[in-house]
Amino acid sequence: MTFIDYSNEEKSNKSSATKEEKATTTLPEDASQWGYDMYPERKGTSSGPYKKSRSITDYLSGKGRDNIDKIRCERNVYKCVKESPLVKLMMGALRSSGCGLDIRRHIACEECAPQVSGGYDPIMNQVIVCHNTAKNEGIVQGVLTHELIHMFDYCRNDLDFKNLDHLACTEIRAANLAHCSFMSAWMSGNASVFNIKETHQDCVKSKALSSVLAARSGISKTEAINAIERVFPKCYPDLEPIGRRLRRNSYDMYKAYEEGYYYGYDIP
Ligand SMILES: [Zn+2]
Repeated sequence: MTFIDYSNEEKSNKSSATKEEKATTTLPEDASQWGYDMYPERKGTSSGPYKKSRSITDYLSGKGRDNIDKIRCERNVYKCVKESPLVKLMMGALRSSGCGLDIRRHIACEECAPQVSGGYDPIMNQVIVCHNTAKNEGIVQGVLTHELIHMFDYCRNDLDFKNLDHLACTEIRAANLAHCSFMSAWMSGNASVFNIKETHQDCVKSKALSSVLAARSGISKTEAINAIERVFPKCYPDLEPIGRRLRRNSYDMYKAYEEGYYYGYDIP
């Protein structure tokens, strides 16, 4: 594997850190220290961008809309798992890497804050699809592919989500392999802070930046940009496990799916 560069610098910084710093960087309960595009009641708070789950009285008082959303979401997840070449390819790659996936255990539909469509929870090793924002099969496929790339990186690459460079790398890979290649709608709204000629790279950097900033409340835009630039040369060319950048409106995702067999993935 090429993408994880276990930074010794980071390790030695940690060992020379003060006691207070150590305490804040090692507590998994401190959600603000964790990097993932992530998730609501899991964060243990009803404030900020994440909502608390609804109570039974909300359902009784007619605020049960999310129940309908949840059922539709589960149906879309099931359909993607059965039919989407990308999702099946990712699941095959995970299985072949010893990280087999059980939909009921590893994928959950939940209500999220309006600006979030999905997330990956490394503690539970679970992908979250936001049933109130990811409302159609296309979006669900995008969310699943993105989050399964995080799961793949976590499974296979000894990913440390608390390490900003690792987080930047997996977000670059997810943007590269999922969003920027086939989600055409995203491209049109691309307002970039990066000075890059290549549109695709520009898209990947911008998308990765917004994901990193959403995942880490405590860091500045400059810190996030610096991390992305630092790991970009290494992480952008790493196309595993999809093996190619998918062109929009092409048969690329089907080709990638067929090629999965040559990589030895256990694809259904
Ligand atoms: Zn992400």
